[in-house]
Amino acid sequence: MAQIFISHSRHDLKLRQWFDEVFAGVAVRAVRFEFEFDAQAKNPIPSIVQMVQQSTALFVLLGANIFSATRHTSNWIAAETGVAKAFNIPIWVFEDIRNPTDFPVPFVDHYVRLRLDIPEYHNAVRGWVSCYQPIIRSRDPIPDSGLLLCSNPGCRSAFQIHQPKDEIDRCPVCVTKQAW
Ligand SMILES: [Zn+2]
Repeated sequence: MAQIFISHSRHDLKLRQWFDEVFAGVAVRAVRFEFEFDAQAKNPIPSIVQMVQQSTALFVLLGANIFSATRHTSNWIAAETGVAKAFNIPIWVFEDIRNPTDFPVPFVDHYVRLRLDIPEYHNAVRGWVSCYQPIIRSRDPIPDSGLLLCSNPGCRSAFQIHQPKDEIDRCPVCVTKQAW
């Protein structure tokens, strides 16, 4: 079975449960990294590298607890995204539009701001997860929708969005506010 690596704080319960429900309906396994638990291991980096390499996508769930999870959270996220980038594994950042975090994530391919109470968002994410069922390593199976380019001259990251531009008010890589 194909798997998607999910990185999150276990304290962001609502976001976590929302994604549990997304994955409940599809034949893609969610492999989780919880900052609080897994980061207790002496050196979790080798197992992170192996788990990410075996995944067809990397989902980073940004919730309110991401800052308090551990002082080293940004290190884990940098390790995960670095491996994903090296192996051409698409990197998704998901965030509750009502609780934005301003947490910077490198190498973002897809940025989604969720409305957790609206079923269409749930259905859309489930649809994308389903696209990763076949193991396609060389190419992202999600069709292009809208490509945004960060206006910060020090960043200039490009990433895909899948919703109206006015719902995306920042760059997920440098977290600079944007007026597209
Ligand atoms: Zn940027």
